[in-house]
Parts: sequence; C-alpha cells; structure tokens
Amino acid sequence: MSKLILILLYISVLLSTQSTFSWCNSAEEDGIISEFQQYLRFPTAHPNPNYKPAQEFIVSKAKSIGLNTQLLEFAKGKPIILLTWTGKNPSWPSILLNSHLDSVPAEPEKWVHDPFQAIKDIKGNIYARGSQDDKCIGMQYLEAINRLKTKGYQPLRTVHVSFVPDEEIGGRDGAGAFVSSKEFKNLHVGFVLDEGQASPDENYRVFYADRIPWNLIIRATGAPGHGSKLYDNSALENLMRSMDAITRFRSAQFDLVKAGLAEPGEVIAVNPVYVKAGTPTPTGFIMNLQPSEAAAGFDIRLPPTADPQLVRKRISEEWAPAARNMTYQILEKGPIWDTQGRPLLTVANDSNPWWLLFEQAIMATGGKLRKPEILASTTDARFVREQGIPAFGFSPMANTPILLHDHNEFLNEGEYLKGIKVYAAIIESLSSFIESDHSIASKDEL
Ligand SMILES: [Zn+2]
Repeated sequence: MSKLILILLYISVLLSTQSTFSWCNSAEEDGIISEFQQYLRFPTAHPNPNYKPAQEFIVSKAKSIGLNTQLLEFAKGKPIILLTWTGKNPSWPSILLNSHLDSVPAEPEKWVHDPFQAIKDIKGNIYARGSQDDKCIGMQYLEAINRLKTKGYQPLRTVHVSFVPDEEIGGRDGAGAFVSSKEFKNLHVGFVLDEGQASPDENYRVFYADRIPWNLIIRATGAPGHGSKLYDNSALENLMRSMDAITRFRSAQFDLVKAGLAEPGEVIAVNPVYVKAGTPTPTGFIMNLQPSEAAAGFDIRLPPTADPQLVRKRISEEWAPAARNMTYQILEKGPIWDTQGRPLLTVANDSNPWWLLFEQAIMATGGKLRKPEILASTTDARFVREQGIPAFGFSPMANTPILLHDHNEFLNEGEYLKGIKVYAAIIESLSSFIESDHSIASKDEL
C-alpha cells in the first residue's frame, strides 16, 4: 500500500474519531476519575504487593465493558490479567496494550498526601504511588475501549490488554514469563504499546527502545605493603587508575548530553555503585596497611545502538587490564539483540506503518510528540522486542513533572482524561489498520 493510500485511509478514521468524540459529561468524568482513584488505592507496592484485590477490580471492570477475561499465572500469587476485544479479522496480527500492576514502595512521611489514598487536591492533582508509573495507562486503556465500544466502533484487529505483575523487580515472573509462553504465541501479537514517561512540557514522549543494563565488577590485586611505603601496582592504586579511566569515559558521555548532542538514553551510562577495599577493624580500618585486594561495582546502561564488543574491549584493555593485575565480571541483565540477531529497537519513522498510525492518531487529537527517545532505564517492552515484535513506550502525560519512583508522584485529572481520548484515537487507528503486502513489508525492517 502506498503511503498516500495509507494516509487517506487514516484520514477517514480520524474524521470518524473526531465526529464521535464529543467526550463525556462531568458526571461521567467524575465516575472515571473515581475509578482511577480506586485502582490506585490497591496495595500493589513492593516489597509485598497484594495483587488479588486489584485483579478482581480489573476483571470486574473489564466484564462491565464486555471484554473477554483470562487469568494466567506463571508464578504463585503473581497473576497476569489478559483481556480481549475480538476484532472482525481475528487471524490478523493483534494489538497488545500492556501495563504493570505493581509499583515501587513509598515513604508516606515524605509525601504531602498519603501515597496510597489517591487524594485529589484542589488543582485536580491526584497523588498516589503508581499514578504516573503506571496504573494510569492500564485504566486509560479500558476507558478508551469503553468509549470506542459505546460509540459502536468495531475493531478489524483483535485488541488485547494485559496487566502484569513484578515489572518493578525485573518482570521475570510477569511479562518475561508471559511473553515466552504458548498463550502469548497464540495471541499472534503484531504491535505492542507499553508504558512511557511524563513530559514536563506540552509534547508527549515516546520511547522506541530501552537501554540494556549490565553490572560490572572490577577487581584489583597487588602486593600488600606498609602504609608508609610508595611502591607500584598496589591493589588500590590499580583500582584508582581504573576509576580515573572510567570517570573520563563517563564525563565524555555526560558532556554529550549536557551539550544537547545526545538524549540521556542515547549515551552509555557508567555509574559507580560500590567500592570495596581495606582491612576492617571493630572501629574502622587498619590505616598503616595497603590492602592486597580491592573491588568496585558499576551500573552500566547500553543503548541498543552501542556496539557491545567495543565496550567489552574498553573494559578489558582500559578499565580492568590483566597487565595491572585486574580481573572483571560482566553480568548482562538482558540480551542486546532480538531472537533474529537485530538490535533491540523499534523503528520510529515513516518506514514503519505502525509508527505512522500512532503518530497521526496523536496529532489528530491535538497532541504533540517530541522526537522519539531511548528510555534510560528498562521496561517490560524489552521482552516483546526480544521476540522481534515492534513496541513503543508511551504514557500520555504532557505538562506533568517526571515523578515516577519519586515522592509526591501525581497526575492531574485533566491530563488523565485527555489521555483517554488520545488512547481511543490510537486504538482505533491501530486496530483498523489494513495491512497490505507492502505496508508491513517485513518484520526485518522494524
Ligand atoms: Zn513502570
């Protein structure tokens, strides 16, 4: 299908979206906000998330909308809620809208309102752990589908909505297990939307890749010696020389961000997380002994555009060279490539029809998008990208401070309601997409 036909097809979808979106009255809005607050109050924060009440709430909400519901469990007490709106052409690749049920903990005494009461202040800001990350999007998906159903829209493609546990602790028992299951394979997912992040300005943010985390431990050894003696190759001297080299690399990467030449997610981050050395005493350390061993740990984040071989070379030659009695260990916290050997990213330009549909749906609602970004941290989207399935991270929160994992996390009710409208347009455009031989030429290009 040529791009022109695609756009014409899309415009017809837009017109239908706009004409039927007079939005809802204020009583309906109040109901929508109060259900969001209810979902926020379920205790799904780590370290002891209780998923059951949230699960029952979502299932009952989904049934009231008329979605098929299914519960999967790959680890005890960790449910995956799968909701399905069957399209007219169920054999076509489906759309999956994912969010996670859990959240990080909160320190209530450091908040202006209780983080688990979802209190709405006079400005309409709803304070709660999970209000941005990411209970908002889970409920917005459902409200958007409800809107579309109410106006009589029927999708061509099947739309699935998943609520998964444990994203905040790595997602292995949640999205990780789900995506590698036969149940997931049977969904025949063609495109995924997952969480993004708030944007402090008027432009929404969208993420086409996550950085890949590595844990690096470097160890140095050397002859021990008296604290007073100057000599070469002590363990700590070797470690300090490495720290110097790493600091220089870190600064060079950070300078690119500070100069506006790269976004934070586009550079390699190397941050020290611990240093271990010295001979302890009950009150401190022995001060007149240079130790024979020293070690340091680093959190490294690689964008999928980085060459991991070059990073390994740098580590072995500059950061932990055997010539200075050093060894190292890299713990890769996820693959660099997808199952076909391609970098873990989803193309975010006009060559990807999913991108075109997504971008134009947002514009049709009056929304603006910032240049697509690589997320500095990781989300569940990486599991589906590993399978070669295109996925974008997107949470419709403009004009909102970035407060995920922070004190006083909040989302304004107006922004939340606007997000429902945006999702309705996106879901309608994605689920009515007619694929031709040329429009999605091959997954290889995505
Ligand atoms: Zn999240």
